[in-house]
Formats: sequence, structure tokens, C-alpha cells
Amino acid sequence: MNCPFCGGEMRKGTLSTDGRTLLRWNGDGESRGLLGVISGKGIIKNARMVNNRCELVSYICNRCGKLVADVRVEQM
Ligand SMILES: [Zn+2]
Repeated sequence: MNCPFCGGEMRKGTLSTDGRTLLRWNGDGESRGLLGVISGKGIIKNARMVNNRCELVSYICNRCGKLVADVRVEQM
């Protein structure tokens, strides 16, 4: 895969957390609020739990540092 920003070659890899929380994405200035947290707003639904880690397949560009991933985010 080539980077959509600079055209450089991208490497496939995994974005991961230690598994204590799920991966979330929320827009700048958006407050999740208690209702949002309870309902799962912002959770990246296609991230998966593997060996107590939350993982998301992604591609990184070594030239410009961009990370590209296919995400499906829970909306409220
Ligand atoms: Zn790039």
C-alpha cells in the first residue's frame, strides 16, 4: 500500500493498547459525557481483543509518519 499523503511505501502493522480500555475515537471538542461512555460512543468497533491487548490493523508511512486504518466508530 502506498501512502495517500506522500506516496511513500506503507508497512502493515498493529496499533495496540494494554487492553485495560477499548480503543476510542472522539472528535476535538466533543464531550463523550456519561451517557456517551455508557452507550459506547467513540468505540472503534473493528478493533479486537487479543491476548489482553486491544488491537487495530493499520498501515504506517515511514516517510511522513501518517497512520492509516480502517475504522468503524460507534455513533450515538
Ligand atoms: Zn506518507
